[in-house]
Amino acid sequence: MPERLGLKPLHELLSLRGKKALITGAASGIGEAIAYRFAEAGADLYLVDIDIEGLKRVKERIESAFGSKVEVFKVDLSSKEEIDNLWSELEGREPDILVNNAGIYVFKDFLEVDESLLDKVMKVNLYAVFWMCQHMISRRRGKGGVIINIGSIEAIMPFARGLAHYDASKAGVIALTRALAREYGREGFRINVVVPGGIRTPGTERLRREALMKLRMDIIKTGINFMSRLPLGRMGEADEVARIVLILATDIASYVHGALIPVDGGFLSA
Ligand code: NAD
Repeated sequence: MPERLGLKPLHELLSLRGKKALITGAASGIGEAIAYRFAEAGADLYLVDIDIEGLKRVKERIESAFGSKVEVFKVDLSSKEEIDNLWSELEGREPDILVNNAGIYVFKDFLEVDESLLDKVMKVNLYAVFWMCQHMISRRRGKGGVIINIGSIEAIMPFARGLAHYDASKAGVIALTRALAREYGREGFRINVVVPGGIRTPGTERLRREALMKLRMDIIKTGINFMSRLPLGRMGEADEVARIVLILATDIASYVHGALIPVDGGFLSA
């Protein structure tokens, strides 16, 4: 009995019962996996993505497996107007937990990146995180909350050619997380960034298939080099990231703040 030792029981520490969590990019991959684990932990969910059919599929699966309340929102996160509208819809029922997971990764040689690609990548990967955090903090002043942003090992250890634009956007996510952690910790916000390594998701599977079909030797070579350097010797699963995001969202991680947590099979250590 942990109570006898003055300890809160683990099942209570790990519970998200009574919490509302908003997850972006929840129609696929890591975001979808986070939605399943949060639902299992008892949270009610606001799932956000541009892919409404994917969101409906995830909602159905969660409702039949866990019975949590799930609302889905079709939002193009590259549009500030759509982000503002989302938060207007959530007025008075703001989430306790925000996970900024949606992101795009398109390989393009640095010298060929044009304004529209850079603009798009920055808007989805960085500006959306900025605006979502701004809404969350301004709406929940006095109440606090938990924010978890998803960065990438690429922002710390650029490895693949053709991702300079992506790396810059994700480095921004890390800097933003740390700045907000410093500024808002005393107001009851707990803010961290998770940096995944190579994770098998529909997004990375699509890249792998395209690289093989178009014989993109540069991407294929990057993949081989990546695997040969990877201490655990295998790609990660989306659920392996989701489980760490879950820990960060719960009271188990009550003193983890402003941290950058790699979930990368040891890649950054090697
Ligand atoms: P994914 O492509 O499988 O899923 C991303 C989701 O984001 C999709 O459902 C997509 O519809 C949504 N999305 C994209 N653009 C959007 C927009 N404008 N508005 C709303 N939703 C939009 O990706 P994933 O592999 O699960 O990656 C999730 C996050 O993890 C991303 O931020 C990615 O950069 C990061 N990450 C992934 C890996 C990896 O190996 N998979 C590694 C490091 C970081």
